[in-house]
Amino acid sequence: MICTKCGALMDQTDKDSSSGRVIREYLCRNCGIYRLEDDGVALWKVLHDAREEDEAERAAQAATTAAPEPASPFPNSRTSLLQRLTRLFPLRK
Ligand SMILES: [Zn+2]
Repeated sequence: MICTKCGALMDQTDKDSSSGRVIREYLCRNCGIYRLEDDGVALWKVLHDAREEDEAERAAQAATTAAPEPASPFPNSRTSLLQRLTRLFPLRK
């Protein structure tokens, strides 16, 4: 960070990422002025959001696919059983 007033290289005096964005604070030792620089989204925030998205996705998948069923020796047993039942007891209207 270069001081806009005198062109000297400013010293970084502080860095705060607690808000979810990295804010760096610079001090020009010549002029004694402080400047804040927004350095973008903090890494922990990126990771945090990614993890939340991941968990949300996983929860959504769990909700739609329900519990994963164990491999059945009769892959279509549920359908065929239903078909067999409806054949045995036809629905009357
Ligand atoms: Zn300066």
